[in-house]
Order: sequence, then C-alpha cells, then structure tokens
Amino acid sequence: MTYWDAHIETMNRKEMNELQLKRLQKSAKTVYQNVPFYRRRFDELGVKPEDIKTLADISKLPQTTKYDFTDNYPYGLFAAPMEDIIRIHSSSGTSGKPKVVGYTKNDIDIWADLLARNFTMVGINKHDIFQNSVNYGLFTGGLGIHNGIERVGATAVPAGTGNTLRQLEMMIDFGVTAIHCTPSYALYLAETAVENDLVDKLKLKTGCLGAEAWSDNMRKSIEEMLNIKAYDSYGLSEMFGPGIAFECPEQNGMHIWDDHFFVEVLDKNGEQVSEGEKGELVLTSLTKEGLISIRYRTGDITRLLEPECSCGRCSTRISRLIGRADDMITVRGINVYPTQIQDVISKIPEVTNQFQIILTRNNKRLDEMTVQVELQKDAFTDDLLKLDRIQKNVVAQLMNVLNVRTTVELLEFGSIERTGGKSKRIIDKREAI
Ligand SMILES: [Zn+2]
Repeated sequence: MTYWDAHIETMNRKEMNELQLKRLQKSAKTVYQNVPFYRRRFDELGVKPEDIKTLADISKLPQTTKYDFTDNYPYGLFAAPMEDIIRIHSSSGTSGKPKVVGYTKNDIDIWADLLARNFTMVGINKHDIFQNSVNYGLFTGGLGIHNGIERVGATAVPAGTGNTLRQLEMMIDFGVTAIHCTPSYALYLAETAVENDLVDKLKLKTGCLGAEAWSDNMRKSIEEMLNIKAYDSYGLSEMFGPGIAFECPEQNGMHIWDDHFFVEVLDKNGEQVSEGEKGELVLTSLTKEGLISIRYRTGDITRLLEPECSCGRCSTRISRLIGRADDMITVRGINVYPTQIQDVISKIPEVTNQFQIILTRNNKRLDEMTVQVELQKDAFTDDLLKLDRIQKNVVAQLMNVLNVRTTVELLEFGSIERTGGKSKRIIDKREAI
C-alpha cells in the first residue's frame, strides 16, 4: 500500500485526538480574536476559547451556516489580514451573493497536499497524465485540483470545460491516464467515446469525479464504458474545496481527513449519530488560516461508517452523500438555491413571486433547467414583442445570479399552485441513472 503521508494516514485514534484537540483550541482562539462575527457568537453562548478542554467541548461552540457567509459577504469571515490572503474563490450563495473564501499561502499548500494524499490513495502518481476537465474560474475545482495534480507530481492537462470531441482528442494525443470532472460529464464523455469508436485509443485508468451526487449505477456505467475505475470526491469551498473526503480503492465509503477537519454527523436534535445512522455532516476546519469555519453545517446528509478500512487508513469514514438537508439543487455541477430565483424574480415588476423549477437531462446527459414564472395580471398582453422582452429580461437576470443557463416560460397569472411548502417548487425529472 502506498501512502502520501503514512504517519498521518495510519495514526492511531489516541494520537489523532490529541492532535485534533490542540488544533481545535488554536482555531477557536484565532476566530475569537480575529473575527468579530465569531466573537459575538461565542459571547452570546457565554463560551470562551479556553473552555475547550476536550474534543467533546466542541458542542459548546456555535454552529455556522451558509447564511453566515452571505451575511458577511465578502470578507467578513476572514480570520487572517488581507495582506496574508493570496487567493480567493467563491461559490454560489443563498441570496444572490456568493460565498467568498480566502486562502493564505499555507492554506493553498495544505490543500494541494490533501489532494495529493487522495490521488496517491487511488494509485495516481508522477507517471500519470491528468486532465482536469472542469471550469477554471472562481470555482474551487479548477485551480484546486490543478495544484493537487502538480503536487503529486503527475502531468497536469488544464483542459477546462466544453467541446467533448476535442477533450477526447487531447486525451488520446496526450496519453491521458486520469481525469477529474463531474460524474454527469464523465458519462457524456464515455458515451461520446463509445459512439465515435475511440475507447480503444484511450489510456485512461482513473476517474476522480465530484461536485454532484451520483449513483452506484452511474458509476458502473462510466467504469464499464471507459474501462476505468471511478472514485467519488467530496468537497466544499467552505473547507478548501475538493479533496475533503475521497474514496479509497475499496470504493466503499469515503475517508475524511481528521488532521484537518473535525467531523460531526448530527441528527435533528444536534446529537452525534451512532455508526450506521444518517445525519447532517458538520465540519470544523482545524488547520486553515484564511477562513476558519467552526461547526459548519454542510447541508449534506451522510452516514457514519466504521473507521476500520481494509486499505489500512485510520481516518473517520463517511458514506457517499445521501442527499441535502435543504432544497439546494445542483445543475451542471453548480449549486442553485430556489431562494436565489425567488430573489431575482421578486425584483422584476412584470412577474409575480411564484415560480417552479423543472429539471431535466438532455440527450447529451447534461442538466437543463426551466423556470416557470407567472405574469402579473396587468402585465398579460397579446403583444408578443413585449412578452419576448419580459422573458429575455428574466433569462438575463437569472443567468447573472445563478451562472447557469435557464429556459424561462411565462405563465398566466394564477397558473402555479400556491403552496406553503417549498418542495413543490422543484420538479426534478432527471432520472437517477
Ligand atoms: Zn480505505
């Protein structure tokens, strides 16, 4: 078995807990001193960093949510001075404003190291040619994964997104052996390769797939079509980005790295669930400097698994994600919250604040989002040009905030059922493949 960092990856529980306690105390002290938001939250609960004497004392600390990011947009949660922040990334937020995260040099370094640890775990090394087929913008999957590829010593091919035949051509010409992309794109890539009779020309062995939930059936299809092993990668920008948890060759649950994160899986009452039970994944960053999240409620539902794994690693293990605690949806790898849509349309005078989201998958297996909105009574008209203008305006405003292309359908006033619950706002017709 090859490890990137055998000492840490196989560290016994007692030693790891000691390391975690030391790091937790330091994180709590830093946010209390440097972040007014945290100082206020600690004070409200009457807790001081010195009250953390054991790991169980973490339950005394305040929990944080995505709303705390948007409320403190853009830099309010940063725990290091701006002159020490060398990069920012962001991801979509809940009310139109994105969640912004800042990294110190040390953060970027640790993040690359974590990814190298994951890549080594699935057999990727300096002999690999590794294509990163995700967006290289503010999204953490581009530059984040890229740094990890270079750290492990493989050859990075920063392909970005788009033009699938060209992507396949690059894979063939460059002798690509590993790829990072979303699972739905991997499936589309596989289908395109099969259709064009290119599979035999590929040298691909390993897929690192993340940024959206995918089923075991989908994994099987991707693996069979491309003749590779495909591994689940979990991450969130609030904790660096991708690389927080990753599958090992057992492909049976994910290792989540205790030296950098304190893991809680909490039930509805905020109690830690027992092994095998499901709950919400709540994470505390133990080594970050730029942005330290304390008891961050990820919104992701998972199960706590037994820590022993045949691969020999001793980390906490969680199941692949079961779902979301809230109603966030993922469209082409981008997180979309219905509240964002609500926000946008509430500012457009010609439409009501009733809407419905319809999700489908097109013949390229890519997500399509249609948003149905209602015209105000007095906005209804036979003038097609006028309607067209309203429709185009809604499309543009949504694109602006969501960063996902949407189709907009204008409906007559009263067409959308009024309901107290928000679940009916989303009609997800994307089949679990
Ligand atoms: Zn393992």
